[in-house]
Amino acid sequence: MNYKQIEMPASKRIALIAHDNMKEELLDWTRSHLDRLRPHQLFATGTTGHLLERALGTPIHKLLSGPLGGDQQIGALLTEQKIDMIVFFWDPFEPMPHDPDVKALLRIAAVWNVAVACNRSSADFLISSPLLDQPHGYKVPDYQSYLDQRLN
Ligand code: PGA
Repeated sequence: MNYKQIEMPASKRIALIAHDNMKEELLDWTRSHLDRLRPHQLFATGTTGHLLERALGTPIHKLLSGPLGGDQQIGALLTEQKIDMIVFFWDPFEPMPHDPDVKALLRIAAVWNVAVACNRSSADFLISSPLLDQPHGYKVPDYQSYLDQRLN
């Protein structure tokens, strides 16, 4: 795979997702870091987004609920460089009906070099990074060169 260098903007597009048993934890984490999060654009799966918006009073772009395709919507956005970072508190103790979607989201985030925090500790590191508030160059797959290789 060939890669190309692109730049993410200073104002990040941050996706927030939590499975049901983890929603309190995500709510508590977002409350602790609201000042850091507020300048950025927040996205979330449906239920998580409604809960956070109500509790924090800050606007959140809400997608569908996870089991109805919300994780896949976030995955689709990140392939178009419309999501820069994901905080996903998935539940390591409960199987989910949409486990394949969760796996797909984590895979596609790895493909497109998107930062993912799956627990509070990792999320603390991401939110305290100086890169959060400045443009940041990073590498993504070069789709045109991928296509050229496949068509020739
Ligand atoms: P929810 O979806 O925010 O609608 O609960 C999260 C998920 O299960 O992926």
